[in-house]
Amino acid sequence: MALTVSEFERAYKEEVLQLFAESWQTASLDQQFAALASLVKRYSASDWSQTKQAVDHNNEKQIYYFSIEFLPGRMLATNLLNLGILTTVERAFKEMGLNFKRVLGMEVDPGLGNGGLGRLASSFLDAMASIGINGNGNGLRYQTGLFKQDFLNGYQVELPDDWLRNGYVWETRKIERAVVVRFGGEVNLLPSADGRLLAQYRHTENVLAVPYDIPQIGYRNGHVNTMRLWQAEPPAMGQPLTVAQREEISAISQSLYPDDSTEAGRRLRLRQEYFLVSAGLQSIVRHYRKTHQDFTQFAQTVAVHINDTHPAMAIPELMRLLLDEVRLDWDSAWAITVQVMSYTNHTLLQEALETWSIDLFAPLLPRIYQIIQEIDHRFRSAYHDADPALIDSIAPLGHNMVRMAYLAVWGSHAVNGVAALHTRLLEESVLSGWYQLVPERFSNQTNGITLRRWVQLANRPLAKLLDKTIGSDWRRSPLAIEALQPFADQPKFLHKLAAAKLKNKRSLAAYVKRTVGLSIATDAMFDVQIKRLHAYKRQLLHLLRIIDQYQTLKAGLAGGPKYVHIFAAKAAPGYYYAKEIIKAINATADLINHDPEVNQQLQVAFLPNYSVSLAERIIAAADVSEQISLAGKEASGTSNMKLMATGAVTLATMDGANIEIYDAVGAANMMTFGLSSEQVLQHQRNFDYSARDLFERDPRIHRIVSALIDGTIPGIEVEGQDIYQSLIQYNDEYFVLADLKAYLDAGARLDELYLRPEAWGKMVVANLAASGRFSSDLTVAGYARDIWHVTPENQVNRHEL
Ligand SMILES: *Cc1c(COP(=O)(O)O)cnc(C)c1O
Repeated sequence: MALTVSEFERAYKEEVLQLFAESWQTASLDQQFAALASLVKRYSASDWSQTKQAVDHNNEKQIYYFSIEFLPGRMLATNLLNLGILTTVERAFKEMGLNFKRVLGMEVDPGLGNGGLGRLASSFLDAMASIGINGNGNGLRYQTGLFKQDFLNGYQVELPDDWLRNGYVWETRKIERAVVVRFGGEVNLLPSADGRLLAQYRHTENVLAVPYDIPQIGYRNGHVNTMRLWQAEPPAMGQPLTVAQREEISAISQSLYPDDSTEAGRRLRLRQEYFLVSAGLQSIVRHYRKTHQDFTQFAQTVAVHINDTHPAMAIPELMRLLLDEVRLDWDSAWAITVQVMSYTNHTLLQEALETWSIDLFAPLLPRIYQIIQEIDHRFRSAYHDADPALIDSIAPLGHNMVRMAYLAVWGSHAVNGVAALHTRLLEESVLSGWYQLVPERFSNQTNGITLRRWVQLANRPLAKLLDKTIGSDWRRSPLAIEALQPFADQPKFLHKLAAAKLKNKRSLAAYVKRTVGLSIATDAMFDVQIKRLHAYKRQLLHLLRIIDQYQTLKAGLAGGPKYVHIFAAKAAPGYYYAKEIIKAINATADLINHDPEVNQQLQVAFLPNYSVSLAERIIAAADVSEQISLAGKEASGTSNMKLMATGAVTLATMDGANIEIYDAVGAANMMTFGLSSEQVLQHQRNFDYSARDLFERDPRIHRIVSALIDGTIPGIEVEGQDIYQSLIQYNDEYFVLADLKAYLDAGARLDELYLRPEAWGKMVVANLAASGRFSSDLTVAGYARDIWHVTPENQVNRHEL
């Protein structure tokens, strides 16, 4: 949009006055933030309204992205950037003598997601708007997010994340669009005048689903989509409810489920999932009916995407609506449902493939269960001449369970994994039976990231340098950054690149000093591992390398570059082992940071409360990106992409999208090590891996691991022993010791390169130049083409991929 500095200033001052009856000079930072955000919302309003009108008027297809999590991060800077007024507003704030950065810092991160899954969903919403497709989010408005993390004596403590306490400036409550979601009770199928059965519900628990809409502003294209979040409330009318009943209703959207990889707390979780899909689909069907006479065009105008297995109940719920309310026959309803639905699987971890016991499921969702029975029955008849053992093993119902992933594949026309290796492993193992049956449904869509957020906004020094060096095309066309490659050989450019990195390191160092009181050396190599704490991600492997570096320094054998190891990670509250690893890392950090014999060379900072905002601070400052999961476990990873896109060199196993980064940058520009997923599988099949053998035979491994239990690291008597046991006694489920030697060697090779700034700079440039392909704009263009069958309004240069 067009806006001059003085126009903005005038509008802003007026906004502060109107909202708070304050002069702009006396407004608090909170008020400054609220006024600016409210103004931005106003600026986007007419585009938002026009986008919605155009969709209806032209009967355009809409994508609805159903996800149990979103992780948007702060939105103010993104919205300013996407409206095209960021620099104008910055200039105005400067002129007024106000601190723009601090105003941005007043925004809270929404507590709507846990980690990678939610972040992907949010980056897709940003991408859909930015390439100009009608893509809406559908999620839950959790009152409290995952906890806020702090450390007490090195242990994780969990404080409530009451992120909505002061309201959320971007949302609008839409009470007039509320729908009712029903649980429990009885369903009777009664004959009706049209000769078909009518579902009659009795004694149901009725929950009011109230939508809150948030604008999702596209990048400088006037396209504004909607993220809709549902809140559960007791209905205003009907039977009076007891306090306990009211609380049970509010609990549905009360809190984010704290773990994105295992399942527990099951009944509430099931209620959350059904609430999400029923509210979303009811509102989609209602909207469609306003503009259409019949359902012949439904599948051409609506696509519903199931982001991981949690919203898979969308399939029977859409069937329910089409059968019971629209009154279609089964075959027509099923044909529409399959055309509308598509499904992304996000994990290979067995424990995260959702299954529900029928004892729990059927009483809570009686009509949905009936429909799943019928789906299962018809599936089995359709394949009556196939191998019955195969059909049994993949049917939606089996072993007294509803198997959500299988239901999702059967009810969708498209199924995808999130990185090439992950899709192949889905086809070969987790969903192999399904792949045999319906191979044409499967495709790969490698995850992507919002480069606007991670580079344009979170790494301003780099963004400025890119503009000066190759022009600003890369801001709109991600692949244009390839033009940077020739600069790998220009020492002058490499010098500027290093200066930009140093600037980011200084900002991060100031933050570290402010928050945890540690002064980190900005002339050190910043070695970063940031992600959820999980055994398969192997923060423990990283810790063992740090212990090795410590022991080397203590033995007087220095020589490598200065190191600052940076961690950020939350452990799920009930994940005891992950919390022990946090304590072990913190205790090691404490030992190292306070030992004058080593702390000039080696430091460790574990920053509390990992979040999108913290990621933005850390990533721009990173030299090394640790992506060291056990091969075959990480579906894709996206922090690997964020880090390479801001000039870090990746130290990685051949897992998830690391493999595609490797393909993009080449062997010379990434450091890989460790077992392949095939080798891991072979060891698991042959039972021929012995961690104890390695421990006993390799003196270096013996020395490193012993540090966990011999008092080297004070304060981890219990944790050190437990970790030691998991490695030696229980044979190291995640092959940490199997990969340790290769990891140390890879680290040493990286050290040598880091000590040669020109060699290092070349690698950094190669990574930057190859990063465009990981833009989620391109990923989403792939979904649009292969799965949703819509054409983006804006050109997306996906050629040459
Ligand atoms: C990108 C991101 C993740 C995902 O990180 P992975 O290393 O891919 O698991 C998780 N949390 C936050 C806050 C992120 O920004």
